[in-house]
Order: sequence, then structure tokens, then C-alpha cells
Amino acid sequence: MSIDASPVAPETHRSAVADAALRDIPGVVTQLRATFDAGLTKPYAWRIRQLKALKALLLENTPAIEGALLADLAKNPAEAQLTEIGFVLAEIEHTISNLKSWLRPKRVPSPLLIAPASAKTVREPLGVVLVIAPWNYPVQLLLVPIVGALAAGNAVLAKPSELAPATSAVFAHLFEQYFDSRAVTIVEGGVPETTELLKQRFDHIFYTGNGRVGRIVMQAAVENLTPITLELGGKSPVYVDDTVDLRVVAHRVAWGKFMNAGQTCVAPDYLLTTPAIAAKLEPLLVEVIAEFYGSNPAQSDSYGRIVNDGQFERLTGLLAGEDVVTGGDSDARTRYLAPTVLRGVSRDAPVMAQEIFGPILPIVTVNSLDDAIAHINAGDKPLALYVFSDSKAVRRRFITGTSSGALAFGVPAAHLLVQGLPFGGVGASGMGAYHGERSVAVFSHDKAVLSKSLKPDTFNLVYPPFTHKKDAFIRGFLRKLT
Ligand code: NAD
Repeated sequence: MSIDASPVAPETHRSAVADAALRDIPGVVTQLRATFDAGLTKPYAWRIRQLKALKALLLENTPAIEGALLADLAKNPAEAQLTEIGFVLAEIEHTISNLKSWLRPKRVPSPLLIAPASAKTVREPLGVVLVIAPWNYPVQLLLVPIVGALAAGNAVLAKPSELAPATSAVFAHLFEQYFDSRAVTIVEGGVPETTELLKQRFDHIFYTGNGRVGRIVMQAAVENLTPITLELGGKSPVYVDDTVDLRVVAHRVAWGKFMNAGQTCVAPDYLLTTPAIAAKLEPLLVEVIAEFYGSNPAQSDSYGRIVNDGQFERLTGLLAGEDVVTGGDSDARTRYLAPTVLRGVSRDAPVMAQEIFGPILPIVTVNSLDDAIAHINAGDKPLALYVFSDSKAVRRRFITGTSSGALAFGVPAAHLLVQGLPFGGVGASGMGAYHGERSVAVFSHDKAVLSKSLKPDTFNLVYPPFTHKKDAFIRGFLRKLT
């Protein structure tokens, strides 16, 4: 069982305003429910208007949002475009372009036994949904689920993370300006607010964050049998063999690992490779890190910072006693932790006992492909598994012999950019998946609709009393169907 990497929220002095907001939560949910029940959110035109409003919100306030991301995570604006603002805009465009066809009722064949009849599924919104977001991609992980929820015709209550306070405040302000607050609203705050929110009845809870809180969410959902999506984390391994260009591997792994200072749920967590390949990869990783962030990454504006002091202390603590290839230096005042590579890391080292969620890349050596696969399968099912190998046989082994939310060959994290692929975990890395049409499916109920005409009443063949003739008919019919 892995130890939780979640940061502990700092003790905050609660203001009277915050206490009033907390007391108001049941009222906010009641208002959203009244709006949904009145049918405001259901029309297709309303949904498209909300998606366009969200697009305008992002385009018209890009500097403020980029500024908030800089304040919360020292996130470079170009990286913010790639992984946050631009990412959400692409999701909105994709959803607007396809929503009509995603919402179209789908005909399904009906069996002869009930002919003449027609059957179809009709997608209907669930109602009032709660979206709880984390701090590490505080724009993308707040807004992409909301795109799906609105496109599906729901009223939405969103709870951004208190650990990205600047981004949370910007969106609380902008949501009021761009959305109808009767149908879409933000509740800011931390554990007390989320605890109060979880006492309310929702029609779906969409939670992104760590597994400890995921369990709290699941327990709360039991009360009202509320369906949930849990987008969790865990250790995402990288396997490398000697059939690939290791220089490109070093670039791709360093890119996926050190983006957002390693605070990415799908970041490569650790490398699994043979000692011989590890010896070749180490100097390449050193070169690539210098290429990306210069000789002193502390001075690079392309490199982020650790979100808070608690996370910083946890991460620097993981370095104790480890053999550092590069990095390892840190500055508590600015929460800077250098891009760090560790060699020869033991499988039971503290850094291997939890999701790292920071810029530390341990290299763990294996003696064979079997050894690597056995190691991966002995742990929790990863959110993502990355394999660098040109061997078809090796790739096949990973496809059939491992289980993970996603399996990517040749590149980390990029599977999120493919809107047709489900994004989600399995086992300890989560339940449910979203992006593109799946987001609309998550926040909808596909209602079964059957229509059978009353004339002629062919059903009289199955009404009681069950005469000999009817019995023979039913048996004959069913036999033909099987
Ligand atoms: P976080 O601390 O911001 O927590 C997420 C949300 O849970 C916040 O809104 C917070 O207010 C709420 N919360 C915290 N404690 C709570 C409590 N006791 N009761 C109720 N609600 C509470 O973010 P985090 O959990 O530290 O995020 C990091 C984790 O999330 C990592 O494990 C990472 O892998 C995972 N993650 C997963 C994905 C994904 O898409 N699968 C994406 C990003 C992060």
C-alpha cells in the first residue's frame, strides 16, 4: 500500500465571511437544483451558450489566468497554454463541434418477439453535479470536467483547490461574470467547505486528487447512492530497453517529468531499466536537463516551483541517503527543488513507497523484461505506464501483461491530448474516465426508450393463460433467438 503524497492544507484563520459562505452551502445547492428542475440547463442552445461563455472567459482573461498560475506554481505562460488554457479551449471546440451528434438518440435493434417496436437510447442530464479539483493543473482539472457537465445539460457546482488560491480566486470572480450563477457556481475553500459540500445531495460527484480524499468522497456518496468519478494518482513507471534512441528517450522523459516541477498526475514517476542502459541514460538526462533549464534551473523561467512548504519538505526528505546523478539542491524560501535524477534506487526506498509528485526521477534497475513487468504488477495499478521499446514482442507483453489507466509507447503524458481516448485510472489510480464524448457520457444517463404500438396487439401471444399452443410458441421463439 502506498503512502499518500497529498499535501496537508495549512491551518488558516477562518474569517466571518468564510463561515457565512460555509453556512450558505445548502442554499447554493438548493438554488442549483431549482434551476435544474425548472429545465433551464437542458436545451441544446443553453449548453452551447455556456461553452461559448467559457471560451470567452478564457480568451478575454488570459493574462489574469496566466498571472494566477505564475503566482500559484510559477507556471510558465507557454506551459500554461499547452497544458491548461489552450488544453481547455481545444476541449471546448471539440465538444461544440460534436455535441449534436453525441446527443442524438441512438437506435438499437429490437427482437422479433416484441415486433413491431422501436428501441433507442436517449441521453439525459443527471441533474446537479459537483466537481472537486486539485491544485496541480488548477485550470484544466477544474474546467475540462465542467465542459462535459455543461455539455450534458447539468447544473454545476465547482470547488477549486485551496492550495492554488490565486487561480481559485480568479475563477470565482470570473464565473460570476460569465455564467448564470443560478446554474453554474463556484464554492471556494478547503476541507471544511468540501466536507459540507459532501453532505449535500448531488447527482454525480467528479473528484480529482489523491486516493485518501477519494475514499472520503466515496464514503460520502454512499449516503445518496451518488455516482462518482475518481481521478486519482499513483506511481507511473517508465520502462526503457536498448532498441530505442536513448537521447530521444531522455528528452521525452525529462519533458514529462519536470513539467510543472514534476507535479503532474501522469508524470513519469520512475525509470525501470537494466544497469547497462541506466549507465547510458544518466549522462543523457544530465545533458537534457541543462538544455531545457540551463546550468542553473533556479534561474530558468521555464521551471516551476513546489506548491507549498509541506510538499517541499516531503520531497526534499525523499532525497536522504540517495545517490544523486544531477540536481538535489533546493531553496526552502522559494520552494525550489532542482530537477533531480537518482541512480541505483532500491525498490524499498522511501522514494519508491509513494507517488513522488515532484521533480525527482529515481532510476531503478531490473535484470530483465520479466523482472520489470513483475515489479509493475506487484504495485497498485498505475494511472499511466510508459514504454520505450521498438520491439513488437515487448510492446505486446505490456499490452497483455499489465493493467494501467493508460499505456503509452514512446511518449509520456501526450495521451491526454487525444480527445478520443478515455482519460482515467483503474484500481487505485481511479474509477471512471472522461475527455471528449466520454465526458458527456459521464454526466448523462443513457435512458432506454422503447416504443411498441398497441395495434396490432401481437403481445397476446405471451399473455396468460399459458396454453399448450402459447408454451410451444414461446419455446420455439426463444430457441430461434439463442
Ligand atoms: P488537493 O489537496 O488540491 O485536493 C483535491 C481536492 O480535495 C481539493 O479541492 C481539496 O479541497 C479537497 N480536499 C482535500 N482534503 C479534503 C478532505 N479531508 N475532505 C474533503 N475534501 C478534501 O490535491 P491533491 O489531492 O494533493 O492532488 C494531488 C493528487 O491528485 C496526486 O495524487 C495526483 O496524482 C492526483 N491527481 C490526479 C489527476 C488525474 O487526473 N487522475 C490529476 C491531478 C492530480
